[in-house]
Amino acid sequence: TRWVYTFGGGKAEGTADLKNLLGGKGANLAEMANLGLPVPPGFTVTTEVCTWYYSHGEVYPEDLKAQVASALDHISAITGRRLGDEADPLLVSVRSGARVSMPGMMDTVLNLGLNDSTVQGLARSSGDERFAYDSYRRFIQMYGDVVLGVDHGEFEEQLEIYKDENGYVLDTDLTAEDWRTLIERYKEIVERHLGRPFPQDPTEQLWGAIGAVFGSWNSARAITYRRIHTIPESWGTAVNVQAMVFGNMGETSATGVAFTRDPSTGENALYGEFLVNAQGEDVVAGIRTPQNITEAARIAAGSSDPSLEQVMPEAFAAFRDICARLESHYRDMQDIEFTIERGKLWMLQTRSGKRTAKAALKVAVDMANEGLITREEAIARVDPASLDQLLHPTIDPSAEKTVIAAGLPASPGAASGEIVFSSDEAERLKSAGHKVILVRIETSPEDIHGMHAAEGILTTRGGMTSHAAVVARGMGKPCVSGAGAVRVDYAAGKLTAGGKVLKAGDIVTLDGATGEVYAGALPMRKPDLSGDFATIIAWADAVRRMKVRANAETPLDARTAREFGAEGIGLCRTEHMFFDEGRIVAVREMILSDTEAGRRTALAKLLPMQRSDFVALFEIMAGLPVTIRLLDPPLHEFIPHTEEEIAEVAEAMGVSPALLKERADALHEFNPMLGHRGCRLAVSYPEIAEMQARAIFEAAVEAAAKTGKAVEPEVMVPLVGLKAELDLVKARIDAMAALVKQETGKDFAYKVGTMVELPRAALRAGEIAETAEFFSFGTNDLTQTTFGISRDDAASFLGAYQARGILERDPFVTLDREGVGELVAIAAERGRKTRPDIKLGICGEHGGDPASIAFCETVGLDYVSCSPFRVPIARLAAAQAAL
Ligand code: ADP
Ligand code: MG
Ligand code: MG
Repeated sequence: TRWVYTFGGGKAEGTADLKNLLGGKGANLAEMANLGLPVPPGFTVTTEVCTWYYSHGEVYPEDLKAQVASALDHISAITGRRLGDEADPLLVSVRSGARVSMPGMMDTVLNLGLNDSTVQGLARSSGDERFAYDSYRRFIQMYGDVVLGVDHGEFEEQLEIYKDENGYVLDTDLTAEDWRTLIERYKEIVERHLGRPFPQDPTEQLWGAIGAVFGSWNSARAITYRRIHTIPESWGTAVNVQAMVFGNMGETSATGVAFTRDPSTGENALYGEFLVNAQGEDVVAGIRTPQNITEAARIAAGSSDPSLEQVMPEAFAAFRDICARLESHYRDMQDIEFTIERGKLWMLQTRSGKRTAKAALKVAVDMANEGLITREEAIARVDPASLDQLLHPTIDPSAEKTVIAAGLPASPGAASGEIVFSSDEAERLKSAGHKVILVRIETSPEDIHGMHAAEGILTTRGGMTSHAAVVARGMGKPCVSGAGAVRVDYAAGKLTAGGKVLKAGDIVTLDGATGEVYAGALPMRKPDLSGDFATIIAWADAVRRMKVRANAETPLDARTAREFGAEGIGLCRTEHMFFDEGRIVAVREMILSDTEAGRRTALAKLLPMQRSDFVALFEIMAGLPVTIRLLDPPLHEFIPHTEEEIAEVAEAMGVSPALLKERADALHEFNPMLGHRGCRLAVSYPEIAEMQARAIFEAAVEAAAKTGKAVEPEVMVPLVGLKAELDLVKARIDAMAALVKQETGKDFAYKVGTMVELPRAALRAGEIAETAEFFSFGTNDLTQTTFGISRDDAASFLGAYQARGILERDPFVTLDREGVGELVAIAAERGRKTRPDIKLGICGEHGGDPASIAFCETVGLDYVSCSPFRVPIARLAAAQAAL
């Protein structure tokens, strides 16, 4: 087997298509090499080695050593340097690289190959002693931290002590001699921890680093990240070993990162940051404040630190050209890492850039308009779930605000919450129902869970490409980074900003679009859905096949749904209308009556209320279909509990509270979700269904008269398992329709159908469709009844299922295609066989989940129905599903 792929010298054994095998980083390094771009030579140890390693008790395939050795020869042939050569040593970086970029994986080790004698060779060959020893101390610290597990704080502490001893302020104050002294101290630290000296053999160093990369695949951080992002364990990571180029060789050297377009706004302008005389992650770590790459950005930021365009015009020009080339080659916005060694530009990484939802829309629309991609590709480029960010509120501009701090607008959106200073605390409070803002000096991959739990993130250090900024943008959370005037005191649990002291638990509001932080919780405003958003959605509408409806019962929800482009109501839950003030007593009268006459009296009170509800919905939805579900929940949900409530109902019914209490107790059920609910209510108390049907039809007549548009209600009977149940209820509905037509002298069309939410209904769909004119898949209950998992109790154990990899996703969030999905497919097929024009839809929570929507397309449903705020997401997801 080929375990190793080389790149460099104008060609490569891999290509960008081999992402699964080479990881994202390795595949793109190969691609850039093939394009003839200046890429330091190197090789990629494939993800298959990682998989092999874990399936063979953590050992390597036998022929790997030889393949690595010959790949090192390949690097030597191009660079003219050999690992461990005392005169002119080859140094390499060791970099992890999974298929998708993944925080939690091993940090890159730079300058590998240095030891007490090669460092002297490096000093001589570079003619720069200081540089050589600076590189060596970096190497010991990185290798010590990342591979040997010695906390990097220990090295930093020594450095601080040393600076104090010698009256130095900046790292750049240290001379070669100083570094030499520190290196000895660093080595002592390592030896103290390890019980043996810092490894001097470069080959041993290399294998140590490779092993650490594979080991990091199973680190707790990486596992958490994979769980959150549903990345399969089986993917594995690749390892990239690459000849070093040096951004720390003095004032003509630099290192930086850039995006080919602004990742925050999507504006078509090169955007990035760099540091002179620096290496590797100095830029991202926020140790020094980086400078802008372009003049335009420098001016816009009002910075007096010169831009790359100013200080290294030639390297900048070369870089700008390469950026343009990469963008048109990949036909997407790129996130690029580079280093300039003594004026010569080197490319170290390219990948599709993470971007905010706003930027994603703008980039997609712009690129389609530029002719770089098609409209279909533009639609496919936008992650529907990310639109959520745009659907979320921003701070009301007229709100009175007290700015307490300002930083960089690192990730847009606004959020309020309690200050917390640690990620563990953020997670804890979040699960206790609090909204929190995570405040950190800077974040690292160890903070992923806290960032996930927080509404927003505030850091006091770091730029637009800092860890906090990048991760927050990926998560779609507001982030303000680099708020330098904020002083954080973790130990005391407080922060100081602009003379104000805020403690953990105090409320602040972040505006990630401006970078401002305000005291208290501020009023928020609805988002603007015009511009690029509207364009993409319009393009999406032109290609999607499935309709998108909303689940709504209140006029407010119905209006929101229409604003968001809903094409009807897929689920109106009538019971939601029963809980209203002034109705609940009548509802309780109805369920607690022990005679039909008593129930009819109470129902008569409810009829006008229900009718006016429906009139309102039909008016808002004028001309669009509205599916109304008959009363569904177990009656016991309406039972009065307190003595006051019981007394109130008893009085209305003219019975004693004691008697009423007895009846209420009798309604108690052991397993109400599988009890007396759904169409079973209509079977025992047909008068309830009759009242609801009357309300629906009378409302249809009334609304049609008001709007001048025909209303065609769809009456949905819940929880049917047997055709006979539906037959019985439908007969009552039909009779009521005939009666209303006769009474009003008006004709109207309507449909009667059922919600498919029991496995039996799915299996017997063929005969049920003889009666049902439509099916709506109630996948919340269908998931519950298929798995036999109570969805109200699932939270307590589903986490363990996911952690153990028994279930990859929460089936109540993303439809279980294999099980529940098969039932949906069977029902769709059998239903259509009986009734070819049967209307099929989905109204569970899944109707707003993009992955589930994709499934709905594959079974050919006619529409999905979701909560109003998810309608735009569903419109885009339905389009992507149809592509
Ligand atoms: P990450 O996945 O965290 O971005 P990388 O492997 O890209 O990690 O490495 C981080 C940084 O280390 C790079 O951006 C680059 O600045 C530096 N680096 C990596 N390899 C080399 C190399 N061969 N020469 C010089 N710098 C390198
Ligand atoms: Mg890293
Ligand atoms: Mg990188």
